[in-house]
Order: sequence, then structure tokens, then C-alpha cells
Amino acid sequence: MSFFDRFRKKNDAGTAKKEVAKDVKKDAKTKTAPAVSGGSCYTKTAESISTAQLPAADLGELLPGAPPNGKINLAIYWAAACGGCDVSLLDINERILTVGDMANIVMWPIASDGKEHDIAAMEDGEITVSIISGAVRNTENEHMVKLLRKKSKIVVCYGACACFGGSPALANLVPGGKNEILDYVYKKIPSTANFQADYHKNSPVIPQTKYAAPEGELVLPTLYDTVRTLDQVIDVDYFVPGCPPLQESISYMLKAVADFAYGGVPLPPKGTTIGVVTRTLCEQCPRRKEYRRITKIVEPHEIDVDPELCLVDQGILCLGPATVGGCNARCTRAGQPCRGCYGPTTAVQEQGASALTAIASLFPVLDEDATMEEDKVIDIMSTIKDPLGYFYAFTMGKSLIKKSVTEKGGK
Ligand code: SF4
Ligand code: SF4
Ligand code: SF4
Repeated sequence: MSFFDRFRKKNDAGTAKKEVAKDVKKDAKTKTAPAVSGGSCYTKTAESISTAQLPAADLGELLPGAPPNGKINLAIYWAAACGGCDVSLLDINERILTVGDMANIVMWPIASDGKEHDIAAMEDGEITVSIISGAVRNTENEHMVKLLRKKSKIVVCYGACACFGGSPALANLVPGGKNEILDYVYKKIPSTANFQADYHKNSPVIPQTKYAAPEGELVLPTLYDTVRTLDQVIDVDYFVPGCPPLQESISYMLKAVADFAYGGVPLPPKGTTIGVVTRTLCEQCPRRKEYRRITKIVEPHEIDVDPELCLVDQGILCLGPATVGGCNARCTRAGQPCRGCYGPTTAVQEQGASALTAIASLFPVLDEDATMEEDKVIDIMSTIKDPLGYFYAFTMGKSLIKKSVTEKGGK
């Protein structure tokens, strides 16, 4: 019994299935466009793709009948990921059942029981599409993504961690690399420090990569010193940024695959980033920009945030000027600053530095308004508690800053 069959049974989804079928019939009656069409949004140029203006693709339209050539094979894998990207794939609500109709899920560690050796036994190219989230930070991640690349026709780099390194890549800033991280995590944080004090006082234990158990040798993945983005390890066909990606991007991606597999519609050009525009997020943001000079940096909880004024105008650090549009400014509309999870525009290589420059340009230090001394600017910028963590929350894996180092004799 497939994952989706179990899902249906467990969730009384006979009803849901009927609803989907009913929707498909209703759509077939009311819509004049063919069920599988070549004119869908993802085939347009990046400039014109805007998830902000288009509803989620109706996956109910995809399969008016059984797939003529049988189901496609779909693999979903998480490398160094939090699981949010996997959960986001369910954001398409009951349409996930349609995905079950169009695809055999050959691997999805968070949800079904696919084994590595099952994938290894498949022919090269037998998997139609692999959707991979997360960065690559250990030997297992690297082995699995290389295996999936070999077995897949299409690889989708899914989510900010896979595309740019995400928060896992902030580990690249730890000067002592994996040893310092393991030492800190297993010996110094309060819960593990207490555990070590209670059970391994004289010889604290850190997990090893090999252990001789009575049943045989157990092997754990080896952590790397450097976290890499997916395209730094394997060839990638499409990118879907976001932490996690929006529902609209997900359904466009699935529709592109279904149109290709069942309708013979050409795929978007290799390397396409799905769900973004070429402009910055500021241009999708409805907040009023007054380009005020900044004299203080604040957190949203420290002030009464004006619901209509640009957050930077209010002294709140917002990465909108350095972030590519596509999410329709979902955070700034909700009163929170953009943290940059869609990554930079194509015109920007270094998102963090670009955001920092945009903020710095708003201090009153120009000739015409030279009211602030350099020391004062440095004082204000020093109030940013974790500048690298703030400006590179998602993109350290793509940054020109590869490492932080400890100076000899210093910190
Ligand atoms: S991109 Fe965000 S949601 Fe996806 S794995 Fe990374 S942290 Fe989690
Ligand atoms: S800086 Fe942020 S709040 Fe201001 S316009 Fe840009 S996205 Fe909106
Ligand atoms: S507003 Fe910024 S942080 Fe929020 S979803 Fe959009 S790109 Fe990501």
C-alpha cells in the first residue's frame, strides 16, 4: 500500500478523494482551457513570473484521467534541513492527493519508507524528479544527493538552505569547524554539560562515527567543516527559494513536472529560479517609503510600529532592498522585517553586504546633512547584536566570506 493510500485510509480521505474528483469534473465542465496546457506561468521569462499576482496552479486540473504512460517517480529528500520545507510541500492542501495520483513516491524520509538501497538499485534516470531541501553538511547528505542526481532526470533545489546554505551554513563561521561545534554542543550547553557531569565526569563522550555494537558496526555520518549549498555539490536543474517556499511556487513546480511528464510540454530553461521576479522585495512591499535618515536601530517590539511606513524608515533592519521579490512581501505586510529568505536579485552577489550598504546609506552623513560623526555611526551599528547572523541568515553558503578565523593570541 502506497504512502498516499495509507494517508487516505487513515484520514478518512475517501471523502477528500471524492471532493477532488468532483472538483476535477466541475473544472472540466467550466473551464475552456485544456487540462494540460503549455501556456502556464512558469514558462514565461523570469521578469514576468510573479507569484504575487497569480493564484496557486490548480493541481486538480492536472490529471483528468489516468496518466497515459503510468505514474512518474518522485523522490523528496532532506539533507541538512529543519523539516519545514517538507511540511511546506503539504501546503497545497488536498491537492497533495492529486500528487499521489500522478506520482509514485519512491523516497520521502519524513513521510514514507524509502530505503537508500532501493534507490541505488534503480536505473539511472528512473526517477523523474527529485526535490531536495537542506544544505550539504555531512557524508550522508553528500552520498544521498549524488545518488539522487544520478538516478533523476530533474533535480529541484528546494528552499533557502539548499539554494544558499540557510542557517546551517552559519556554522561556516565557527573558526574551529566541526570539532569546535561538537565540543560545544556535547560538552558546554547546559543540558549536555549536566549530562556529562552526571554520567561521564572524567571523560566526556562525544558521538563517534563508528561504534562496535554486539550486532555489528554502527556507522554515523561524518560532519564536514564547511556547509555547502546543493549546487556546490551536484548539478541542479531548478531552484525554488524561500524559507520555506510559498504554496504558489510549489504548485508551479509540480505543474511544470506534470505538464512535462504527461503533456509533453517543454520544461522551463535549466537553471530557472521558480517564483521570483527580477525586482527587489521593496517593489512588492506596500509600505510607504520616506527615505528618512536613521539615527537609531530598533527591534519591532521596542516601538509602536507604524503599519504603513517602511520599516527601515522606522529604524528597523529590513533586508527588502537586497532581496529578490516573489513572496509578495509576506513578512513586511505582517509587520515583521524581511530577513532575506528568497536570496538576492541577480544583480547582487553578496546579499548581506548589499543590505548593510543600503542601511548604512541612510545615516545622516552626507555633505548636505552632515549631522552625525563617524564614531556615532559606529556606535549605532554596534547595537546590531549579531551582524553576520542578521545579514547572512540565509545566504552564508553563497557568500564570499567563507570562514571566520581566530587571530593568533586573540579572539
Ligand atoms: S529553507 Fe527554511 S524551512 Fe526549509 S529546511 Fe531550511 S530552515 Fe527549514
Ligand atoms: S525596506 Fe522593507 S519595509 Fe521598507 S519598503 Fe523595503 S521591504 Fe518594505
Ligand atoms: S519577506 Fe523576506 S523573509 Fe519574509 S518570506 Fe519574503 S523574502 Fe522571506
